[in-house]
Amino acid sequence: MLLDVQITLRSVVFLLGGLLPFVLGGAALESFSPARAQTQPATQAPVSQSTQAQPGIVPPVAGQTQRGGLSVVVLDPAHGGTDPGARGAGGMRESDLVLEFSDQARRALEAQGFRVRQTRQGNDDPSLDDRSAMANAQRGTVFVTLHISSTGLPGTVRVYTMTDFPAAAGTTGMITWDRAQAPFLDLSRKLGDIVQGQLSQSFKGSPSSAQAAAVRQLRTTAAPAIAVEVSSVTVEDRADLVRMAPGVADAIARGIAAFRPIYEASPAASALP
Ligand SMILES: [Zn+2]
Repeated sequence: MLLDVQITLRSVVFLLGGLLPFVLGGAALESFSPARAQTQPATQAPVSQSTQAQPGIVPPVAGQTQRGGLSVVVLDPAHGGTDPGARGAGGMRESDLVLEFSDQARRALEAQGFRVRQTRQGNDDPSLDDRSAMANAQRGTVFVTLHISSTGLPGTVRVYTMTDFPAAAGTTGMITWDRAQAPFLDLSRKLGDIVQGQLSQSFKGSPSSAQAAAVRQLRTTAAPAIAVEVSSVTVEDRADLVRMAPGVADAIARGIAAFRPIYEASPAASALP
């Protein structure tokens, strides 16, 4: 299931350009605790040193010829920890199932030559902002959050991209954290349509193009970003869902591979972090 947009962050901004320096402004950080963030690999570096290499992240090289290249996919198995997500018969939990889908997707993407990072490996529950930060910390990245729905025709798969943002109030050259997705909406829709097209070939009854939804996780992600939602936990046998994982993984991997030249030709991709 997908979470609705709920933004409580204020005064958290990041600058575009350079190597994505994060600037935390003001004191209104109710839901983003620096102390907590420092325990998370993706946000380990102090904000003033965010251009330093972080464990597991290949730092961008200034002036490299493949500037604007797409090489990394951040996979986000949604929910986890105390949040099981959607629940079905026999103790079926969305949070467990998406890990299996993510493992399959990782293998398929690596076979396409992508480097893959996962926002979680086990039953932990990184914050939504920490998950976005894993993609926001580097360029040349796309973000895919994986969900299992409690609705929809079982055996179908839907792709969502973030809805339109209202026009920004000011143009200071900074983009607030809660509008991080805004510059990437067009690319996200292209990616979403390509992946949905692949999925519709393998999973009959799936839509032919991506749909827009106010997904909180996408909103704060500064990269082409999609949500992939598999239907559904209403199946009686968990195996019916698990059986879909290789096909979903292949569709995601083929879709992102097909999207790569579009991304790399995009002025936005080379102009943005
Ligand atoms: Zn979900």
